[in-house]
Amino acid sequence: MIGVAATDFEDKILNANTAFLQMVGYTVEDLKSGTLCWSAISLEEYDDIDAKKMAELHAHTSIIPFEKEYVHKKGYRIPVLVGAEILDAASTVGVCFALDISTMKESERRKEAFAALVSHELRTPLSIMKISADILVAQVAQNSKQEELIATTNEINQQIDKLDILITDILNMSLHHSNDPAFSMSGVDVYETAIRVVQELTIVHNREITLEGQENIFIRGNASKLSEVLINLITNALRYSPEKSSIVVSVRADETTAFLAVRDFGMGIQKENIDKIFERYYRVNHTDTPKEIGAGIGLYICSEIIKQHHGRLRVESEVGKGSTFTVEIPKLF
Ligand code: ADP
Repeated sequence: MIGVAATDFEDKILNANTAFLQMVGYTVEDLKSGTLCWSAISLEEYDDIDAKKMAELHAHTSIIPFEKEYVHKKGYRIPVLVGAEILDAASTVGVCFALDISTMKESERRKEAFAALVSHELRTPLSIMKISADILVAQVAQNSKQEELIATTNEINQQIDKLDILITDILNMSLHHSNDPAFSMSGVDVYETAIRVVQELTIVHNREITLEGQENIFIRGNASKLSEVLINLITNALRYSPEKSSIVVSVRADETTAFLAVRDFGMGIQKENIDKIFERYYRVNHTDTPKEIGAGIGLYICSEIIKQHHGRLRVESEVGKGSTFTVEIPKLF
């Protein structure tokens, strides 16, 4: 897991383990021939801190690990946490330890982007509500027509709905952050659960959502968590498809597995984004912004819930044609 490299404190890398070679994309031959050397994987902007750390190493025989970047053979940067040790102050050879922290850095970046997105998205509906409320007060004072009062009140209502979606997403995320204890599991009728969710969302969104498939399919799970997954998938299907298009929810099973699928005929998802959309905070940058903004955590929460049901969530999608998200959970009987 940790890259280890021996150094003579000059440019040469005397030896390195497989983890180190893989991290920077070089081979054993590159190491032997000297193609892999510190200058090949270093960036000038870290020269100052490297020099300070080298002094620290000679003074204390070890350094406090610090973050920097190496350059991969293919040219991209790899964020690493680097430590180093020498046997004593007179040593001519030292050992350097490097841990690839790209995943952690990417997650930090997404968290920051998420915080920025959330604060912006929370503020926008609030500002519109404030303006609308001021308008409403003025309209009442001026005895404006009832239609005008209704229009302004509706505007406030729509903004409240937007806030509600965002806050629900954020609360869901913090619940999953705190690793809430496993929820209670019992026999769940998948079709029954789907009927309830479909009826509710059809009314709320005033869109055509069709339910088809088999009744009497049972899984061991938590009905309200399964509903949460379905609500998330249908809400996404509605968000990322044209207003007039329909959504099809289907329930079926084979010998061992129950399948709950949500199909839409919307924008679809590009191949390079298919795996990423299940990651926390990941959102595709849509040029044609969907009607309602999400926080990029819906699918992450869905996959976490489904994992706790010993199942999996997969997606088939074609750009411009639509997507089908399928939940697969072991059947109870
Ligand atoms: P968000 O709150 O942004 O919708 P999700 O985790 O639910 O977050 O989804 C992540 C990303 O996956 C979305 O930003 C969107 O680009 C994409 N996505 C999810 N569902 C669909 C769908 N049915 N059709 C097209 N893209 C989708």
